[in-house]
Amino acid sequence: MTIHNTDLAIIGAGPAGLFSVFEAGMLKIKSHVIDTLEVIGGQCSVLYPEKPIYDIPAHPKVQASELIELLEAQAAPFHPTYHLNQRVDKIVKNADKTFTIETSKNTHINCKAIIIAAGCGAFGPNRPPLEGIEEFEGKSIFYAVRSKAEFTGKNVVIAGGGDSAVDWAISLAEIAKKVFVIHRRDKFRCAPESADKMKKLAEEGKIELVIPFQLDGLKGQNGMLEAVLVKDFDGNVKEIPADYLLPFFGLAMELGPIADWGLNLHKNHITVEPSTMQTSEAGIYAIGDIATYKNKLKLILTGFAEAASAAHDIYKIVHPDQVFHFEYSTSKGLS
Ligand SMILES: Cc1cc2nc3c(=O)[nH]c(=O)nc-3n(C[C@H](O)[C@H](O)[C@H](O)COP(=O)(O)OP(=O)(O)OC[C@H]3O[C@@H](n4cnc5c(N)ncnc54)[C@H](O)[C@@H]3O)c2cc1C
Repeated sequence: MTIHNTDLAIIGAGPAGLFSVFEAGMLKIKSHVIDTLEVIGGQCSVLYPEKPIYDIPAHPKVQASELIELLEAQAAPFHPTYHLNQRVDKIVKNADKTFTIETSKNTHINCKAIIIAAGCGAFGPNRPPLEGIEEFEGKSIFYAVRSKAEFTGKNVVIAGGGDSAVDWAISLAEIAKKVFVIHRRDKFRCAPESADKMKKLAEEGKIELVIPFQLDGLKGQNGMLEAVLVKDFDGNVKEIPADYLLPFFGLAMELGPIADWGLNLHKNHITVEPSTMQTSEAGIYAIGDIATYKNKLKLILTGFAEAASAAHDIYKIVHPDQVFHFEYSTSKGLS
């Protein structure tokens, strides 16, 4: 377990969460930011990084990935700590009105206030519904490739028909003993030249296309795979030798543990008092897409303004003995 102490924990590193770091920093509030994704930027980074956005004030046009880079740079002078690739599972309320946040990686963050900027919930991979899959996840079943070298000389089964499945099949064919690609139909949803390249590698025997088949079961022990079972539409089952399985079925968004945090919800959104963005729990705030109130607009610029409102209300929790004097950034500077 790793333990951290800070003023403010921000759950979600989307645009609203990132701008909260800046707004809090301007008020001498230190932040830690947690996200399930391996990258910051929320929907902008994973759903539309290359799409231009036209409704960010003073930016007639900005690419989503560039907006995230700019927000990161704007937050940087306040030295936020990012805890990525981990989900906030639990919020514990302590007797002294502080909170402890617990993540899926057993990171504990003690803080005085919380901003939930969780968008539509946590992003995570679509997991195939295979019995006992949990035993193998993180040991021989992965939803992303972190270190290519791990697959050298191994039997790698890749499931899926999109860009990730095809690109990784091509890339791992260079080093794996054999790559098997399981897909339920002959057509792949990827760049045509990638599909052609994969089919050429299949002709050379470096890749075996297992089509039209779907995943049906797992064989192995202690988290290590021995084989993957696949089934065709007539119910015929085949056993494929496997050291690793890489299912690439895209990302899903789920509200996840937020529903268990004891906050008032309305249709899977957190209800807040719009003048402060405080939730039904004192010290816990919600902003951005996850927060709801009358006439709420789900836009990035709304999330920015909400970050400012929340940070100003949090000031009195973090600095209870100091009188707040409102100042513009132009007169105050970045300190
Ligand atoms: C295709 C598309 C185009 C769009 N175009 C525009 C546009 O032009 N202009 C505009 O204003 N808006 C646009 N939007 C909407 C905009 O992207 C959202 O309003 C914005 O991303 C909301 O920001 P956010 O920070 O609230 O949440 P998000 O961007 O959703 O980020 C939330 C983050 O919280 C993380 N998270 C959730 N739960 C947990 C947990 N328990 N633990 C840890 N992390 C967690 C998630 O992994 C995620 O990274 C568009 C959306 C889409 C899909």
